[in-house]
Amino acid sequence: MIGEHGHSWDRPKPDHDRRQDAAVTTPRQLLTGLGIGLATLEVHCTGCNCRMGEGEMVWVYAYRAAEDPEWTITRCFCAACTDRRIETPTLGTSEVLAAARLNVRSVVDEQRHELCLTHVEPCAFSPLMEGYSCE
Ligand SMILES: [Zn+2]
Repeated sequence: MIGEHGHSWDRPKPDHDRRQDAAVTTPRQLLTGLGIGLATLEVHCTGCNCRMGEGEMVWVYAYRAAEDPEWTITRCFCAACTDRRIETPTLGTSEVLAAARLNVRSVVDEQRHELCLTHVEPCAFSPLMEGYSCE
């Protein structure tokens, strides 16, 4: 039996499809509902380490490198710490800074709750192939 690893040589890479996917996904869509924070239903501000929970506004920075199919949230700020822009936009990386409200949702299968992002409002966005930030 041939495993998945043995298949790639005889198939074209689905690069074309991936580019189409990227074009129709907005920062709002990709961040809404994304899980964030700790099992204690808190997030800590990257700037001042204050705790934030359900119903509070946060500002999150997320990025995706050209070859990476997934977005990664690396920073989460409180209202006092965010400067609401992308400080050093990077060529070859899609970046977004967005305001969002923390919401608690039930993960019924696992009988637990988790924080997620709702009411996402992108503040700044830096496209993949541009080394600048646009509003
Ligand atoms: Zn802070």
